[in-house]
Amino acid sequence: MKYSEFFIPTVKDVPSDAEIISHKLMIKAGMIKQSSAGIYSWLPLGLKVLKNIEQIVREEQDNVGANEMLMPTIQSADLWIKSGRYDDYGKEMLRITDRSGREMLYGPTNEELITDIFQTYITSYKELPKNLYHIQWKFRDEVRPRFGVMRGREFLMKDNYSFDLNEEKAKISYNNMFKAYIKTFLRMGLTPISLRAETGPIGGNLSHEFQILANTGESKLYYDKELESLDPESLDPDKLQSYYAAVDDQHDENKCPIKKEDLKISRGIEVGHIFYFGTKYSEKLNAYVQDQNGKKIAVHMGSYGIGVSRLAGALIEANHDEKGIKWPRSVAPFKLSIVNLMPDDQNCTTKALDYYSNFMNQKIDTLYDDRDCSVGKKLKDNDLIGTPIQIIIGKRDLSAGIIEIRDRQLDLSQKIKIDDVEKFVLQKLNS
Ligand code: ATP
Ligand code: MG
Repeated sequence: MKYSEFFIPTVKDVPSDAEIISHKLMIKAGMIKQSSAGIYSWLPLGLKVLKNIEQIVREEQDNVGANEMLMPTIQSADLWIKSGRYDDYGKEMLRITDRSGREMLYGPTNEELITDIFQTYITSYKELPKNLYHIQWKFRDEVRPRFGVMRGREFLMKDNYSFDLNEEKAKISYNNMFKAYIKTFLRMGLTPISLRAETGPIGGNLSHEFQILANTGESKLYYDKELESLDPESLDPDKLQSYYAAVDDQHDENKCPIKKEDLKISRGIEVGHIFYFGTKYSEKLNAYVQDQNGKKIAVHMGSYGIGVSRLAGALIEANHDEKGIKWPRSVAPFKLSIVNLMPDDQNCTTKALDYYSNFMNQKIDTLYDDRDCSVGKKLKDNDLIGTPIQIIIGKRDLSAGIIEIRDRQLDLSQKIKIDDVEKFVLQKLNS
């Protein structure tokens, strides 16, 4: 993509209600624009990030055999009346009346709808287990929408629902999801900390929350240091669940089961939440199957959420400096920037275009900064939008046979001989 042809409306000043760094940087980098309280338009750069996050989430779900589908945003109130949540959900639910006076709502979550779909088609234990998910916009009329996309009213969530014959099997599904969640966050370059959690209005008796570490996070976390060095290839959910981890108000120094030198204290942001809630919805919404003996059994369910749009903000909270965003490679909107400092110079432009077509041919999503603006603005903007690797082409360097390569995450610039540039960049991109 050529910068001059791409819409990245970077801005200097942010509105005063942008309190936290990710909110400020998303506005400054031209990723989002608020449309009304807690509701945002995702501008091209923001959307690229959102899609990269979504794709990692999707791949890790598909890897454990979950099936993607898509349920509507607008739901009829009927099923919610049956489950008892139409009243329970209170003012967080956006209620809508259609032209014939039917009560509808903008879905804050999908337990009711998915249970109804399940019970329409599945009648035998032979068809279990099933795990269905979608990645869809939700609406919750939060009391205090704030922190940009981190607590929006409209937000993108990945939600799964698992269906099993009994509690024992449901826990296998739960643990598969647990593992997929840890992998998902690790792939984004984040450090996930899983904690035992309250089940809240969803109900049930087993739940974990997933927080990612960020100095600016809302919660203070106390956890076993082992949780900071997980190997994605050998994750054991039972073992992971046995490590100590607690939020501030659960932690008691005198009762803490691990040694002081093994205890880490950091701040975190909640990005995922999983629940096993047994037969709560299947009983109310008639999701029964026949077991081996022909007996009718209410299916055991779990639900599993990841805040896809919240992750865009959380990733920035975990990866930034005073110059802007430092995207981890896996979610960066562009993996590489080619910054042509002298577009008027024939040699610089030839070299820049050369690299651009070369890396694009290798399917590396590259931003070619061909803009006719000051050198300072170019360097600043590329740091602000956080491209992990930047090839900076200047006239003097070029005639000396060198090119500057900038590693945004390390905040390090190195001068490399022209012949070595491609190899060096590819190595960096794959590291
Ligand atoms: P919270 O305690 O933050 O309100 P929750 O318990 O209501 O979260 P869930 O219903 O479990 O959240 O939703 C699953 C995930 O969706 C959360 O872990 C979070 O990442 C995301 N999420 C929830 N509410 C919002 C929101 N208002 N804006 C953005 N993301 C959200
Ligand atoms: Mg909530």
